[in-house]
Amino acid sequence: MIFTVAIDGPAASGKGTISRAVAAQFGFAHLDTGLLYRAVGAMGGDPIAAAKRLTAEDLARGDLRTLAAGQAASRVAVIPEVRAALVDFQRRFARAEGGAVLDGRDIGTVICPEAEVKLYVTARAEVRAHRRWLEVGGDEARVLAEVRERDARDMGRADAPLHPAADAVTLDTSDLTIEAAVARAVALVAARLSR
Ligand code: C5P
Repeated sequence: MIFTVAIDGPAASGKGTISRAVAAQFGFAHLDTGLLYRAVGAMGGDPIAAAKRLTAEDLARGDLRTLAAGQAASRVAVIPEVRAALVDFQRRFARAEGGAVLDGRDIGTVICPEAEVKLYVTARAEVRAHRRWLEVGGDEARVLAEVRERDARDMGRADAPLHPAADAVTLDTSDLTIEAAVARAVALVAARLSR
């Protein structure tokens, strides 16, 4: 069975947690596409060359989850040649036999417009910054400023900007528990699978 669940949304919206839970529930493969951009940003040197030679081992580095790695990722993610070099891998993953969940910024709009289920997971910037601050610590006001800066860059870039696909279901997790958010996503996928 070919079945793609595309989950897009801004930083710390809950899309990663929801994606992992949906993949586990249905036995689908999961790809956190932010890791591709984080790895390219962390490799240093020419980002286009880095994107072209990216391998699975690069995604396993331990330093990809930091705020700095997120900022570096969103800077290389504006480069069209970097995005182009990463398309095939993501498309193959999305349409591989057995079902796949991909989370990112442009999965439902650019990478897999034919996805069977599209979710746009969002939350208020203050809520997202607070969640991120609980993980990384430090100064919460600075974390909020970084979240806003990354939102602006991801939504304002010319190539594959972050926005909901016309046929995406929006899930605002600001006032939802993670269990409730996951339950809604699982229900959507189950409904589409049973059609
Ligand atoms: O999701 P995550 O916070 O790990 O993504 C890091 C950065 O990578 C994002 O801020 C965005 O600039 C970029 N990205 C992207 N397209 C994707 C996934 C991530 O441009 N599909």
